[in-house]
Amino acid sequence: MSPAFPGTAAGVARAFVAGELRATDVCEAALDRIGRLDAGIRAFVTIDADGALAAARALDARPDRAQVGPLAGVPVAVKDNICTRGLATTAGSAALRGFVPPYDATVVERLRAAGAVIVGKTNCDEFGMGSSTEHSACGPTTNPWDASRTPGGSSGGSAAAVAARLVPVALGSDTGGSIRQPAGFCGAVGMKPTYGRVSRYGLVAFASSLDQIGPFGLTVADTTRVLQVLAGPDPRDATSARDGVPWEPVLDGRVRGLRVGIPRRWLESGVEPDVSARFDAALDVFRGLGVSVVDIELPHARHAIAVYYLVATAEASSNLARYDGVRYGGRVGGDGALTEMYARTREAGFGSEVKRRVMLGTFVLGAGYYDQLYMKALQVRTLLTRDFDAAFARVDIIATPTSPTTAFRLGERLADPLQMYLADVFTAPAPLAGLPAVSVPCGFSTEGLPIGLQLMAPRFEDATILRMADAYEREQPWWRHSPPGLFLEGTSTAGRGRRRAGEPLDGGVDGDTDQRERQQRQQHREEAGHGHGDHADDARDDQDRQEHQPQHQLQQEAEQQERQEDQLQQQLQQAPDQADDQQAAKDQDAQGQHIEHGTLASSPRPAAPGYEPCSYPVTQILRGRRPEGSGGPSSGGAA
Ligand code: GLN
Repeated sequence: MSPAFPGTAAGVARAFVAGELRATDVCEAALDRIGRLDAGIRAFVTIDADGALAAARALDARPDRAQVGPLAGVPVAVKDNICTRGLATTAGSAALRGFVPPYDATVVERLRAAGAVIVGKTNCDEFGMGSSTEHSACGPTTNPWDASRTPGGSSGGSAAAVAARLVPVALGSDTGGSIRQPAGFCGAVGMKPTYGRVSRYGLVAFASSLDQIGPFGLTVADTTRVLQVLAGPDPRDATSARDGVPWEPVLDGRVRGLRVGIPRRWLESGVEPDVSARFDAALDVFRGLGVSVVDIELPHARHAIAVYYLVATAEASSNLARYDGVRYGGRVGGDGALTEMYARTREAGFGSEVKRRVMLGTFVLGAGYYDQLYMKALQVRTLLTRDFDAAFARVDIIATPTSPTTAFRLGERLADPLQMYLADVFTAPAPLAGLPAVSVPCGFSTEGLPIGLQLMAPRFEDATILRMADAYEREQPWWRHSPPGLFLEGTSTAGRGRRRAGEPLDGGVDGDTDQRERQQRQQHREEAGHGHGDHADDARDDQDRQEHQPQHQLQQEAEQQERQEDQLQQQLQQAPDQADDQQAAKDQDAQGQHIEHGTLASSPRPAAPGYEPCSYPVTQILRGRRPEGSGGPSSGGAA
């Protein structure tokens, strides 16, 4: 593997511009890593090796490297509900199987214009509906820290891809928490921008008054860099805002005098002790930075889940009406009447969670229930927004844990939708009020699972939370801890040669790689103004290690986890879905693409009870014509 990658986006762009790295080498290193590791994680649903290498070669051929842009040569993964020209976009739904968009979403256009290299599309809950990436027609993604757990969702593929260092940055979308919750579960940084900050043109619509595209990164600086590329008005999205532009976040560590509000009462129930402990420790870090921490009230926040699931399902039922077999998506025909065709098409195209939401949303919009349910939800949404306005008259930022728990186990909440919905308890309010919110890693549980800290700010104050998150990250650089086992050469399963959960990169098993990474990271930190010397970092790492791995039990738990993972791997290997693979290959070939099924195509799908059968396989486009689009469905942000 080239030493070019893993690294940060800032480091890759700097080295490319300085002529120290070729974009092709970085791209090949990323593809190589994906090829070796993703069979165990399944973060990707499509890998575009061909397209990525062509883009990288074009960058290498440019004489004006300094002009390429802030993401020059940086490999990026894009959630599969964001349209990519010539590259399948399915939103995790069988309804969009085979859809190849004839256009790029605005965010994808902006990524490419900034020099990014799009390596593939990542797995997600169907149409963004879920909190675990288990509701995907492509099967679930696993958490890089523990293969028996979910990565969160719905943007679990993007979060896992960044956490596993398959790409330094990725795009997700967040309607009720789908960027922040998986970021928290996987130990990545994830940002939901202010509603309107980023264009939704080309995002497959779920709930249009809530949906927002945003970045994932390993560091706050990288996440900010991507958001700067994405942000700005777009004439193709009527809701994209002109406010707050130009927009130049400053990550200079200066947070002294800021006020952070804690909605104590709301946080009282249901938060796991490990999560509370890490949250309180983060508040101590704030205090040490000269930030004042005060208690605030958000009286209506406890209704946020109820409001969110009424508003989001109502909007979804309307947005998804387009998948009728005529205007959008595939069709299941027959000799019957038109309505029968609609019913058959939707029955075959949608998974059970999507059906549940379409039914719920249709119900709450129905005459007789509209006033009682939907209208009431809108009223409480307004009250919640006012709660935030009142709180922000006293504080600059509101902090909560990103989620009340660490990553839950695969399958654990599938049978109980309400439990699944409760994963969004702290993330749902921000989109309801249109606020920016970021999740930044704030440590590990005693089981070695990442924990996220959420920061929210008033609308268009995105820069304030990024500055605060960055200041925290300088003190506690948790991003330097990597998931066990994933840096070892030649291993691709989570169970082998594992490092203890949460163990830092430094002094790890693969000394050379780690040393290189360490130097690279130190350099990046210095570039970003993080001037800590090696000693300071060592001392901090030792302290970090002691803080989150004091337990003698950890070893035992790690061993138990290893056994469970081995079992899971065995289960997985018994359930390859060959028939579907072959069918999809035929379908794709019929569209004029030459698809070769690589390692991922044959990667087995979990046979765990409760999963719907995988309705299409992961595909790897290795070579062939760039398809010109199927002329099929598209979905815009201007809904
Ligand atoms: N988990 C939430 C849901 O299922 C949020 C999803 C999202 O933000 N896209 O609706």
